[in-house]
Amino acid sequence: MDCPTCHKSLESESLHGQTVDRCVTCNGLWLDHSELGPVVRNTRPSQAPAKPIACVDGIACPRCNESLAAFNYAHDSGVFISKCDSCGGVWLETGQLELIAQYRSGSPAIQRLGNAMADEMLAANKLQFARRLLRSRLLSGIVAIGYLLFIVLATGSLQSVLSLLLGLMLPMVCIWFPDAMGNLKGISLGFARPMITETTPGDFVAIGGWLLLLCPAAMALMVRT
Ligand SMILES: [Zn+2]
Ligand SMILES: [Zn+2]
Repeated sequence: MDCPTCHKSLESESLHGQTVDRCVTCNGLWLDHSELGPVVRNTRPSQAPAKPIACVDGIACPRCNESLAAFNYAHDSGVFISKCDSCGGVWLETGQLELIAQYRSGSPAIQRLGNAMADEMLAANKLQFARRLLRSRLLSGIVAIGYLLFIVLATGSLQSVLSLLLGLMLPMVCIWFPDAMGNLKGISLGFARPMITETTPGDFVAIGGWLLLLCPAAMALMVRT
């Protein structure tokens, strides 16, 4: 096949898994009907502002010699490429492929906004995961049952188990109901040293609960008293 504009022989090359034909002189690109989609989908948009690149009038299809018609890619992209109505192949002037990719991805500004939004959502998801972990009833329940089993096996004393249960109450309530606990004001829970004297955001309450729960020394203290 020859280049429709400079009539030099086109050279086959592999582009995004497709065997396409390129003119080494003008850098134009011939894509058969089935090749346009995969190539466009895998082309990174150019970050430079789009300058229209016109197709050349009156050129013939390198495959079937029919004359190529100007075709507005996706009907409203403003990127006019040359298309053969007979075989469905397209001829892209150099730079037009990047313009099509840019049209598909929106303007560089919109793309940056999209990327920023995606990053933000990812960060929010991570935060959400951390908060769920922080307030996990299952996880804290397993830790509490672990303590109880340990005390039962180690001491076998009902007194110790009861005092541990009492000791576990504060951290467990903090983890299970952090928001309700955070909104308590000026209440002393009596059996425990920490006094909740001002509104605390639920997350901090849950963190406090975990610190207490994961401190075996604190738990040992509960059992002894
Ligand atoms: Zn050429
Ligand atoms: Zn053709």
